[in-house]
Amino acid sequence: MFAGHIGVGLALGRAERRVNVGVFIAAALFLDLVLWLFVLLGWESVTLPADFASTHQAEFVFPYSHGLLAAVGWSAVAGSAAFVSYGRPGSSRLRVAGLLATAVFSHWLLDALVHRPELPLAGADSPQVGLGLWHDMPAALLVEAIIVVLGLCLFIPGCRLSRGRRAALTVLSLVVLVFTVVGMTIAPPPPSPRAMAASSCAVLVLVVALACGLAGPSRGAPA
Ligand SMILES: [Zn+2]
Repeated sequence: MFAGHIGVGLALGRAERRVNVGVFIAAALFLDLVLWLFVLLGWESVTLPADFASTHQAEFVFPYSHGLLAAVGWSAVAGSAAFVSYGRPGSSRLRVAGLLATAVFSHWLLDALVHRPELPLAGADSPQVGLGLWHDMPAALLVEAIIVVLGLCLFIPGCRLSRGRRAALTVLSLVVLVFTVVGMTIAPPPPSPRAMAASSCAVLVLVVALACGLAGPSRGAPA
């Protein structure tokens, strides 16, 4: 899942408009960034099974990025980092920390919905969960599209961005949705797991940078 996480980031961005929504999007995508970095480092692995061209489902061993225990830990790290770095004192600081931790953890919940039972509860040898909605790919992509549209409908009305930036953020979200649909249906298999990890990393960084840039303060305008 890719675009669906952006939808959740947008929805959470509505709950705290003083924070750049790109930060919520980054938090919602964070576990995948960790995954692909760890694959490149050889700490986690992805395999392209023989039926990948028809299923578009890789097989993952990813206890440190996508284990339930790890997801709780990464959420706590993100929440703590937000609490320390967010400038405003008092309850809003705690609220931002809680929302960012929620964004990180939401990734695990959405992935558990679509992945086959391959998300470990703790270490690699622990029980694995996953509801496997990707076995019904049209339904999975419909759910993902609904999450993106809901996220946009929640965030865009009432946000403080210019019309141009609203449009660009909407287009970015929809482009990622199209990218997700193509990737899970008709895209050819990547040449190797490593190539898949490198290109996924690059795309994630690009999308997060674009979202943060589009939703950030305008040049010359007060933040
Ligand atoms: Zn993931």
